[in-house]
Amino acid sequence: MTPPRVLTVAGSDSGGGAGIQADLKTMLALGVHGMSVVTAVTAQNSLGVQGAWPLPVDVVRAQYRSVVDDIGVRAVKTGMLASAELVGAVAELLAATDAPAVVDPVGVSKHGDSLLAASALASVRTRLLPVATVATPNLDEVAQLTGVRVGSEGELREAAAAVLEFGPRWVVVKGGHLAGDAVDLLTDGTEEHWLRSPRLENRHTHGTGCTLASAIAAQLAKGRSVPEAVRAAKEYVTGAIAAGFALGAGIGPVDHGW
Ligand code: PLP
Repeated sequence: MTPPRVLTVAGSDSGGGAGIQADLKTMLALGVHGMSVVTAVTAQNSLGVQGAWPLPVDVVRAQYRSVVDDIGVRAVKTGMLASAELVGAVAELLAATDAPAVVDPVGVSKHGDSLLAASALASVRTRLLPVATVATPNLDEVAQLTGVRVGSEGELREAAAAVLEFGPRWVVVKGGHLAGDAVDLLTDGTEEHWLRSPRLENRHTHGTGCTLASAIAAQLAKGRSVPEAVRAAKEYVTGAIAAGFALGAGIGPVDHGW
């Protein structure tokens, strides 16, 4: 039987922990057919990002068209988009695609390396977020996009409301960087779903954000509702973090083989 088809539009991580590589591993683990539009190539390992090269807009557009025109997609996930031009082009492609879009508004890596030009932030707000079915910002990305700084669980609601103003249908604000349990808030402005998991003491968490967003897209492609998809994705990423392993001299990746 043909499995549901899911497309990731994201950057390549040569170290195999995040980006396209994490997305495809997640999709394989969740039983969907993963496809990829590469937006940027990074030279990257457990110590950080040593270099990043965005691809020309035409190259990104051509990959997307090849996939959508023949194979078709049941859900799309976007990650690193690098430049304002790529953000605009991808937003346009998503708007013309009849499938839910999970947008991970990737800004800066765990090592502090920028994966999005400062000049692209406005396009993320005004072009990409409005076409998102689910946006999945972490607290740094919320602060960058909205100016709202979250210091406690109680403030997640205000952060979510600020992101929803830009037009995504749903937002998951990921509170994992706060102290205590890892708490995320999923809301569409009406319903609220608080997702809580115990904090795991594992520093090998490279690729967490990519994995969560891909898992949401995979679950949506399998026909789950947004709340069901996000809940299942959170469970998947919690298992992947628990199984994260050391690699190189720095931060190792989450694991998809558990
Ligand atoms: N590299 C690429 C290509 C990514 O898309 C991302 C995150 O989305 C990262 C690196 C950052 O991963 P992390 O912050 O989990 O280390």
